[in-house]
Amino acid sequence: MKYRKLILSTENIHKVEEIRVILKDLPITVLSKKDVKVSSLHVEEDGETLEENAIKKARALADRIDGMVLADDSGLFVDCLDGGNAPGVHSARYAGADATDEDNNDKLLRELKGVPLEKRRAKFKAVIALVLENKDILTVDGECSGVIAFEPRGKNGFGYDPLFIVDGYDMTFAELSEDVKNRISHRAKALNRLKDEIMNVIKDDRYEGIRGK
Ligand code: IMP
Repeated sequence: MKYRKLILSTENIHKVEEIRVILKDLPITVLSKKDVKVSSLHVEEDGETLEENAIKKARALADRIDGMVLADDSGLFVDCLDGGNAPGVHSARYAGADATDEDNNDKLLRELKGVPLEKRRAKFKAVIALVLENKDILTVDGECSGVIAFEPRGKNGFGYDPLFIVDGYDMTFAELSEDVKNRISHRAKALNRLKDEIMNVIKDDRYEGIRGK
Protein backbone atom coordinates (compact mmCIF):
# COMPACT_ATOMS: atom_id res chain seq x y z
CA MET A 1 0.00 0.00 0.00
CA LYS A 2 1.31 3.45 -0.91
CA TYR A 3 1.99 5.53 2.20
CA ARG A 4 -0.14 8.62 1.48
CA LYS A 5 -3.93 8.41 1.67
CA LEU A 6 -6.50 10.33 -0.35
CA ILE A 7 -10.10 9.70 0.70
CA LEU A 8 -12.99 10.38 -1.68
CA SER A 9 -16.06 12.08 -0.24
CA THR A 10 -18.67 10.58 -2.57
CA GLU A 11 -21.36 7.91 -2.49
CA ASN A 12 -21.20 7.42 -6.25
CA ILE A 13 -19.25 4.22 -7.00
CA HIS A 14 -18.85 5.24 -10.66
CA LYS A 15 -17.07 8.42 -9.63
CA VAL A 16 -14.85 6.44 -7.22
CA GLU A 17 -13.82 4.13 -10.07
CA GLU A 18 -13.16 6.97 -12.52
CA ILE A 19 -11.14 8.98 -10.01
CA ARG A 20 -9.07 5.92 -9.00
CA VAL A 21 -8.15 5.22 -12.62
CA ILE A 22 -7.30 8.85 -13.44
CA LEU A 23 -5.08 9.22 -10.33
CA LYS A 24 -3.45 5.77 -10.56
CA ASP A 25 0.03 7.10 -11.36
CA LEU A 26 0.26 9.21 -8.20
CA PRO A 27 2.17 7.81 -5.19
CA ILE A 28 -1.00 7.73 -3.06
CA THR A 29 -3.66 5.20 -2.08
CA VAL A 30 -7.14 6.34 -3.13
CA LEU A 31 -9.81 5.19 -0.65
CA SER A 32 -13.60 5.45 -0.60
CA LYS A 33 -15.77 6.45 2.39
CA LYS A 34 -16.57 2.75 2.75
CA ASP A 35 -12.85 1.87 2.95
CA VAL A 36 -12.43 4.24 5.90
CA LYS A 37 -15.71 3.14 7.47
CA VAL A 38 -17.61 6.41 7.27
CA SER A 39 -20.21 5.32 4.72
CA SER A 40 -22.90 6.69 7.01
CA LEU A 41 -21.75 10.29 6.53
CA HIS A 42 -24.30 11.88 4.22
CA VAL A 43 -23.90 15.51 3.16
CA GLU A 44 -26.88 17.59 2.02
CA GLU A 45 -25.98 19.04 -1.41
CA ASP A 46 -27.88 22.30 -0.95
CA GLY A 47 -25.31 24.72 -2.39
CA GLU A 48 -26.17 26.99 -5.31
CA THR A 49 -22.98 26.13 -7.21
CA LEU A 50 -20.89 23.05 -7.91
CA GLU A 51 -18.03 24.70 -6.03
CA GLU A 52 -20.09 25.24 -2.86
CA ASN A 53 -21.20 21.61 -2.87
CA ALA A 54 -17.74 20.22 -3.59
CA ILE A 55 -16.23 22.22 -0.71
CA LYS A 56 -19.06 21.22 1.63
CA LYS A 57 -18.64 17.50 0.86
CA ALA A 58 -14.84 17.62 1.19
CA ARG A 59 -14.89 19.57 4.48
CA ALA A 60 -17.55 17.35 6.07
CA LEU A 61 -15.37 14.27 5.63
CA ALA A 62 -12.08 16.04 6.44
CA ASP A 63 -13.60 17.01 9.83
CA ARG A 64 -13.97 13.31 10.62
CA ILE A 65 -10.70 11.74 9.42
CA ASP A 66 -6.97 12.29 8.85
CA GLY A 67 -5.48 12.35 5.36
CA MET A 68 -6.22 14.31 2.21
CA VAL A 69 -9.91 14.42 1.21
CA LEU A 70 -11.26 14.98 -2.29
CA ALA A 71 -14.85 15.70 -3.36
CA ASP A 72 -16.29 16.13 -6.86
CA ASP A 73 -19.50 17.97 -7.64
CA SER A 74 -20.53 17.77 -11.24
CA GLY A 75 -23.45 18.19 -13.58
CA LEU A 76 -24.77 18.59 -17.09
CA PHE A 77 -25.56 22.12 -18.32
CA VAL A 78 -27.75 22.32 -21.44
CA ASP A 79 -27.55 25.66 -23.31
CA CYS A 80 -31.26 25.93 -24.17
CA LEU A 81 -32.62 24.93 -20.74
CA ASP A 82 -33.04 27.56 -18.04
CA GLY A 83 -30.45 29.84 -19.63
CA GLY A 84 -27.85 27.07 -19.64
CA ASN A 85 -28.34 26.17 -15.98
CA ALA A 86 -30.40 22.97 -16.17
CA PRO A 87 -30.14 20.23 -15.09
CA GLY A 88 -26.99 21.91 -13.71
CA VAL A 89 -26.30 21.74 -10.02
CA HIS A 90 -29.43 19.60 -9.62
CA SER A 91 -28.37 17.00 -12.21
CA ALA A 92 -28.54 14.01 -9.85
CA ARG A 93 -32.13 14.78 -8.84
CA TYR A 94 -33.45 16.45 -12.04
CA ALA A 95 -36.55 14.21 -12.18
CA GLY A 96 -37.13 14.26 -8.40
CA ALA A 97 -35.51 13.41 -5.08
CA ASP A 98 -35.28 9.65 -5.69
CA ALA A 99 -34.80 9.82 -9.45
CA THR A 100 -32.78 7.10 -11.19
CA ASP A 101 -30.37 7.88 -14.03
CA GLU A 102 -33.04 6.57 -16.41
CA ASP A 103 -35.70 8.91 -14.94
CA ASN A 104 -33.32 11.87 -15.37
CA ASN A 105 -32.49 10.91 -18.95
CA ASP A 106 -36.21 10.50 -19.79
CA LYS A 107 -36.97 13.92 -18.35
CA LEU A 108 -34.12 15.52 -20.30
CA LEU A 109 -35.40 13.99 -23.56
CA ARG A 110 -38.93 15.27 -22.79
CA GLU A 111 -37.62 18.79 -22.14
CA LEU A 112 -35.75 18.70 -25.46
CA LYS A 113 -38.60 17.25 -27.52
CA GLY A 114 -38.65 18.91 -30.96
CA VAL A 115 -35.36 20.76 -30.37
CA PRO A 116 -33.04 20.30 -33.40
CA LEU A 117 -29.48 19.00 -33.04
CA GLU A 118 -27.81 22.40 -33.45
CA LYS A 119 -29.76 23.74 -30.45
CA ARG A 120 -28.92 20.77 -28.20
CA ARG A 121 -25.45 22.00 -27.16
CA ALA A 122 -24.42 21.08 -23.62
CA LYS A 123 -21.45 20.91 -21.26
CA PHE A 124 -20.49 18.58 -18.46
CA LYS A 125 -18.81 20.54 -15.69
CA ALA A 126 -16.92 19.27 -12.64
CA VAL A 127 -15.52 21.12 -9.65
CA ILE A 128 -13.15 19.21 -7.41
CA ALA A 129 -12.27 20.33 -3.89
CA LEU A 130 -9.19 18.97 -2.13
CA VAL A 131 -8.67 19.38 1.60
CA LEU A 132 -4.99 18.93 2.46
CA GLU A 133 -3.66 17.28 5.61
CA ASN A 134 -3.16 20.74 7.18
CA LYS A 135 -6.85 21.42 6.29
CA ASP A 136 -6.02 24.01 3.61
CA ILE A 137 -8.47 23.71 0.73
CA LEU A 138 -8.10 24.18 -3.00
CA THR A 139 -10.47 23.76 -5.94
CA VAL A 140 -10.06 23.03 -9.65
CA ASP A 141 -12.59 22.68 -12.45
CA GLY A 142 -13.00 21.00 -15.82
CA GLU A 143 -15.50 21.12 -18.70
CA CYS A 144 -16.34 18.94 -21.68
CA SER A 145 -18.61 20.07 -24.54
CA GLY A 146 -21.01 18.17 -26.77
CA VAL A 147 -24.66 17.76 -27.83
CA ILE A 148 -27.60 15.86 -26.38
CA ALA A 149 -28.63 12.84 -28.48
CA PHE A 150 -32.25 12.10 -29.50
CA GLU A 151 -32.22 8.73 -27.73
CA PRO A 152 -29.94 6.89 -25.28
CA ARG A 153 -26.97 5.05 -26.84
CA GLY A 154 -24.36 2.79 -25.20
CA LYS A 155 -23.95 0.84 -21.98
CA ASN A 156 -20.82 2.25 -20.30
CA GLY A 157 -20.55 4.91 -17.64
CA PHE A 158 -23.41 6.37 -15.60
CA GLY A 159 -25.80 9.31 -15.32
CA TYR A 160 -26.34 11.20 -18.58
CA ASP A 161 -23.52 9.34 -20.41
CA PRO A 162 -25.93 7.60 -22.88
CA LEU A 163 -27.25 11.00 -24.04
CA PHE A 164 -24.02 13.01 -24.26
CA ILE A 165 -22.33 13.00 -27.69
CA VAL A 166 -18.93 14.48 -26.97
CA ASP A 167 -17.36 16.92 -29.46
CA GLY A 168 -14.79 15.28 -31.73
CA TYR A 169 -16.43 11.83 -31.52
CA ASP A 170 -19.65 10.64 -33.13
CA MET A 171 -20.38 8.65 -29.99
CA THR A 172 -21.95 9.14 -26.59
CA PHE A 173 -19.85 8.84 -23.42
CA ALA A 174 -21.66 5.53 -22.83
CA GLU A 175 -20.45 4.21 -26.21
CA LEU A 176 -16.83 5.27 -25.69
CA SER A 177 -14.44 3.01 -23.78
CA GLU A 178 -13.74 3.95 -20.15
CA ASP A 179 -10.19 4.61 -21.21
CA VAL A 180 -11.22 7.33 -23.67
CA LYS A 181 -13.80 8.90 -21.33
CA ASN A 182 -11.19 9.03 -18.56
CA ARG A 183 -8.83 10.96 -20.85
CA ILE A 184 -11.26 13.60 -22.14
CA SER A 185 -14.03 14.05 -19.55
CA HIS A 186 -14.73 17.11 -17.40
CA ARG A 187 -13.61 15.07 -14.35
CA ALA A 188 -10.36 14.00 -16.06
CA LYS A 189 -9.55 17.61 -16.97
CA ALA A 190 -10.12 18.82 -13.40
CA LEU A 191 -8.19 15.91 -11.88
CA ASN A 192 -5.25 16.39 -14.22
CA ARG A 193 -4.97 19.97 -12.97
CA LEU A 194 -5.05 18.68 -9.41
CA LYS A 195 -2.33 16.07 -9.95
CA ASP A 196 0.36 18.75 -10.10
CA GLU A 197 -0.92 20.31 -6.87
CA ILE A 198 -0.90 16.95 -5.09
CA MET A 199 2.65 16.22 -6.30
CA ASN A 200 3.80 19.62 -5.04
CA VAL A 201 2.36 18.88 -1.59
CA ILE A 202 4.07 15.49 -1.51
CA LYS A 203 7.42 16.96 -2.61
CA ASP A 204 7.24 19.83 -0.10
CA ASP A 205 6.65 17.54 2.83
CA ARG A 206 10.17 16.15 3.26
CA TYR A 207 9.59 14.52 6.66
CA GLU A 208 6.64 12.51 5.40
CA GLY A 209 8.60 11.73 2.25
CA ILE A 210 11.45 10.17 4.22
CA ARG A 211 9.06 8.15 6.41
CA GLY A 212 7.20 7.02 3.31
CA LYS A 213 10.26 5.42 1.68
P1 IMP B 1 -23.33 15.01 -7.76
O1 IMP B 1 -23.11 13.73 -7.03
O2 IMP B 1 -24.22 15.97 -7.09
O3 IMP B 1 -22.04 15.63 -8.21
O4 IMP B 1 -24.17 14.58 -9.03
C1 IMP B 1 -23.63 14.55 -10.27
C2 IMP B 1 -24.72 14.15 -11.26
O5 IMP B 1 -24.38 14.77 -12.51
C3 IMP B 1 -24.71 12.64 -11.51
O6 IMP B 1 -25.64 11.96 -10.73
C4 IMP B 1 -25.04 12.57 -12.98
O7 IMP B 1 -26.43 12.66 -13.14
C5 IMP B 1 -24.39 13.83 -13.54
N1 IMP B 1 -23.00 13.57 -13.96
C6 IMP B 1 -21.86 14.09 -13.43
N2 IMP B 1 -20.78 13.62 -14.06
C7 IMP B 1 -21.25 12.78 -14.99
C8 IMP B 1 -20.60 11.95 -15.95
O8 IMP B 1 -19.37 11.87 -16.07
N3 IMP B 1 -21.42 11.24 -16.74
C9 IMP B 1 -22.78 11.27 -16.66
N4 IMP B 1 -23.44 12.00 -15.76
C10 IMP B 1 -22.67 12.74 -14.92
